[in-house]
Amino acid sequence: MCALCTQNAQRLYNLTGFWQQGRGSSEKSFRRDFPLLIRIKTLNSYLSATGLGFVAALGGYSCWRFSLLPDLTSLLPLSRPSNLTTLDASVAGAAMAGYSVALSLTVNRLGLSRSWHYIAVSIVLLVSMYCVAAQFFGVDVLLTPLLFTAGLSLLLAQVNRLWSLDRQFAHTLLSSPSNGSDTSSAANARLMSGLKLLNTVLPVNEAVVFHCVDSDSLEAVARFKGPAPNTQDPRRNSVWREGIQLCQAAAAKGELVSQTEGPNSSSIAVPLRHEGETAGVLLVRLASEFSVDDTPLLEAIGSQFARNLKRDSFSKHPPGIQRFSYFSQTGNKRKLDALNVLKALTVEQRCEARTLAHIEDGIAIAYLDGTLALVNPSILLFAGLNSDKAVELDLFGLLHRFRTDVFDEPEIAVRRVLQTGVAYEGELNFEHKNQILNLRISLLRERQREPIGIAVYVKDLTAQKEYEKLKSDMISLMSHELRTPLTSINGFAELLTQDQTLPPQAREFVSIIANESQRMSRMINTFLSVTQLERKDKQEVLKIPLRLDEVVRDTIASLQPVAKKKRIRLIEQPAHRIPPVAADRSLIMQAVKNLVNNAIKYSPERTTVTVSTALEAETVRVCVEDRGYGIPAEAKERVWDKFYRVVREGQEKDEESTGLGLSFVREVVEQHGGQVELDSEEGRGSKFSFTLPRL
Ligand code: ADP
Repeated sequence: MCALCTQNAQRLYNLTGFWQQGRGSSEKSFRRDFPLLIRIKTLNSYLSATGLGFVAALGGYSCWRFSLLPDLTSLLPLSRPSNLTTLDASVAGAAMAGYSVALSLTVNRLGLSRSWHYIAVSIVLLVSMYCVAAQFFGVDVLLTPLLFTAGLSLLLAQVNRLWSLDRQFAHTLLSSPSNGSDTSSAANARLMSGLKLLNTVLPVNEAVVFHCVDSDSLEAVARFKGPAPNTQDPRRNSVWREGIQLCQAAAAKGELVSQTEGPNSSSIAVPLRHEGETAGVLLVRLASEFSVDDTPLLEAIGSQFARNLKRDSFSKHPPGIQRFSYFSQTGNKRKLDALNVLKALTVEQRCEARTLAHIEDGIAIAYLDGTLALVNPSILLFAGLNSDKAVELDLFGLLHRFRTDVFDEPEIAVRRVLQTGVAYEGELNFEHKNQILNLRISLLRERQREPIGIAVYVKDLTAQKEYEKLKSDMISLMSHELRTPLTSINGFAELLTQDQTLPPQAREFVSIIANESQRMSRMINTFLSVTQLERKDKQEVLKIPLRLDEVVRDTIASLQPVAKKKRIRLIEQPAHRIPPVAADRSLIMQAVKNLVNNAIKYSPERTTVTVSTALEAETVRVCVEDRGYGIPAEAKERVWDKFYRVVREGQEKDEESTGLGLSFVREVVEQHGGQVELDSEEGRGSKFSFTLPRL
């Protein structure tokens, strides 16, 4: 196993849970657990090696029987007795078969390069055996036929191994580019779009892309005609011929060739080169003189065309029989085409990767061994690194630069992402730098299936947070400032309502002023309590053990008169053994009150509102269910937002409605580490619920 593979396997090993171990010991145990070479041989490969051994033996035996082999023993520095007894044919055949099969199996298992010393030892033994048998026993052990059989067996075994490798190679290679969506029509469409692009930068009269079919013939594969091509031009044919000659010259030289035909006309032939090979020629006829300054642009567009031509030629040729491609010229040419397409894709992917450099958010992509494949300048800036340092960095090295008290063990976050496939998301507050970043680590999958990498995404939230804080500070300030004059308005208005000397209409106006100012101050108070909660840390809320079923009972009792007014049946569904939760009694009480109040407010008369409490695994759920108007699907997410109110046809504007009740509920519940939920169907009723962690 090469050093690089060991290093990569080691990284993956670390990623999947061995990170915490000491480096030295994990290295040793890694080497102990994984032998350096794992050989995977199938029964099929052994059977085919045995078969080939027999074929070689048959070849050697036939050549010996028909005396087709030269006598190699005369080359040995040894006097050869004249009356040697030859081995019996069946013994000779068995010896050849045994030797040949043994060599074939050895090569199949170890490969030729690692089995040469066994082969050499067997030949030395064979020659020694021949010498001893001939000198002392007067027997010819058939050295030449055995050596010939051995050679044939080695040749067949090696060709078989190479062929099998080639089959794998052809399969992998030919299936890779076809995975893309690049069919012939798509490749052609790309050529046409490239020609249109060329027309936007140069005054093109006509442009033709030629494909080099063989070394000396050109085939037109795409053509673009400028705004007013003169089809009646008598010189058209000769211009076309000249153009072809220009293309041939460009293809032969491998360089751009231009020809000026007048102040308003010139022709240019650009060789379309990919990986040092000319794939075609682009012929452009301009409605102006050609300027050499345009050469780099034409060459760059030309290399893109070359890639498209390679793709076009690959997609046009039928796949053929991959099994025998090792022995066929067409098969090997096709593999070359596939390789060219893959190289073209790599170049194009480099272009995609470069776009990351222009993105303000930080992005890094790592392979599943932790190696960083891509890091854009923004993420380096957030990590406080320069590009030289980035070369030495791996995924963990990068993530450690973002460690804070909420993201203190990047390894755990990465492991969770790898194990569950669910992205990690966290808000990181770097107080010393006065910076707030949003960090997201997610798994990249190939076509929604197997994971292929990890993406790290960092967004700077500092400005947005500052803006939000400023906005909320301003609104709170204004609300506070409004409270004092409102109290005076309300106080004086109420005083005036008691004044019997006022005419009745004036008294009515004054009481409207009193009611409206009261509503306004209620609205301001709710708003201030929501914003206050938003600013609080979870720890700041005063929590004591609280029984939610008792809270529900008290709330129901206090709201019974309101329900009765609308002839609504407000009932509690009895619950058994509800454990307490840690919560602020007045906040939770207010939240339940808001939900029950809404259920009464948004239900028609003579319906039922049910409030229940239930224990779920680790949480206690409070649920308020009504048979009221329900909430339209599109408003379900938004009802929790501040000031959001559902507009219903035929329902007059409710004076009590502020659009703040549910946002208060959500804020309170989230401050207590719980979650809110809504299930509703328009016209049938709603089910608002929240959970709080049990004690
Ligand atoms: P409001 O003060 O307007 O009731 P909320 O934040 O409590 O403010 O509610 C937001 C909107 O959600 C309301 O305008 C109302 O239309 C809708 N809503 C709340 N609860 C219910 C319910 N139980 N049934 C139907 N609609 C509801």
